[in-house]
Amino acid sequence: MSKLHSQTVAVRTGIETDPVHHAVVPPLYLSSNFAFTDYKEPGQFDYARSGNPNTKLLEETLAGLEEGAGAVVTNCGLAAITLVMQLLEQDDTLVIPHDCYGGSHRLFQALAKKGHFKLKIIDQTDFAQVEKALTAKPKMIWLETPSNPLLRIVDVKAICTLAKANGALVAADNTFLSPLLQKPLTLGADFVVHSCTKYINGHSDALGGVVVCADAQHAEDLGWWSNCLGLTDCAALNNYMILRGIRTLSARMTVHQQNAQKLVELLVAHEAVDKVFYPGLASHPGHDIAKKQQTGFGGMLSFELKGGVQQVETVLDNVNLFSIAESLGGTESLICYPSTMTHRAMDAAAQATAGIGKTLLRISAGIEYGDDLVADLRQALNKIVNGE
Ligand SMILES: *Cc1c(COP(=O)(O)O)cnc(C)c1O
Repeated sequence: MSKLHSQTVAVRTGIETDPVHHAVVPPLYLSSNFAFTDYKEPGQFDYARSGNPNTKLLEETLAGLEEGAGAVVTNCGLAAITLVMQLLEQDDTLVIPHDCYGGSHRLFQALAKKGHFKLKIIDQTDFAQVEKALTAKPKMIWLETPSNPLLRIVDVKAICTLAKANGALVAADNTFLSPLLQKPLTLGADFVVHSCTKYINGHSDALGGVVVCADAQHAEDLGWWSNCLGLTDCAALNNYMILRGIRTLSARMTVHQQNAQKLVELLVAHEAVDKVFYPGLASHPGHDIAKKQQTGFGGMLSFELKGGVQQVETVLDNVNLFSIAESLGGTESLICYPSTMTHRAMDAAAQATAGIGKTLLRISAGIEYGDDLVADLRQALNKIVNGE
């Protein structure tokens, strides 16, 4: 059979594989332990922290979607990042972007402070800075593209080529796009990380994470560390729900993107708005790279209002179809104020460096009817113009 499209992989992996009852949907195994057939030899599973059938199937599905050699599922996205950090030693350097998920930034800083590794923070959209950092032979470079919250784009392939030449590993946080819209391993990355809490589960009702590895040995090593540290997602029901979410990933991403596009059109034309950040805009500095390495521009966007905090409050007080909440990638639309919400773990100086301004708002476009979302955001923005 020819290579299957991700949409098919997402829907079909594990379907009709139950050898006992021929259940179409793979069954849920809640047991925390599995009997040994012989006291000297465990079966495929022994204790659920080290693995259970639902975890294994979720790992196979995610490895398939990202085209990796293996995957390790963790209890949340930060656990997946913590897991990758186990590959670094005290004298190793990790290169990170100045603008990434606030929790990742906090984790990298805190571990570096404890002496786990050395940290180098750079603006990865400036290729000269990437070149300089990589020629200093770091152990690993961390990418997040599009970045959170400003949707900055970096050229994954170009950075991976340079990293390989300098013996550095590349890890990419692909949470914002999902494997349906971008596959960093096919561009040369060694690891892809997801917060499955976001698009992969997609219904804002389960937390999870994953590391997908290009190399089977890395997957095995990280599987060992995950069990050792207790980072695994041992909750079978949670794995079951995330796989259930994956079944509709492709259909959801299509609507998320359509709605994001409509909201961007409104924002670009609205007089209360100063700047719009969306890789689908031809004026976005990363537009050409995004077009090359992504198969879509995604469902996340951010924008700056003219004015100050008062204008931010007007919008937040008046939207009805956007919940004021952190997180992203669920079926429902969300709006957030990164400065005091998602990125509050970054101090004022770090926020300024990352370009997180005082009127910046971030939207996770849901899958409601697009014109309803546009009408709702428009009436909230109009309140600024009308001085209400
Ligand atoms: C949410 C998020 C994380 C952290 O994932 P959790 O599941 O919340 O631990 C990491 N990276 C990005 C880009 C995220 O949006």
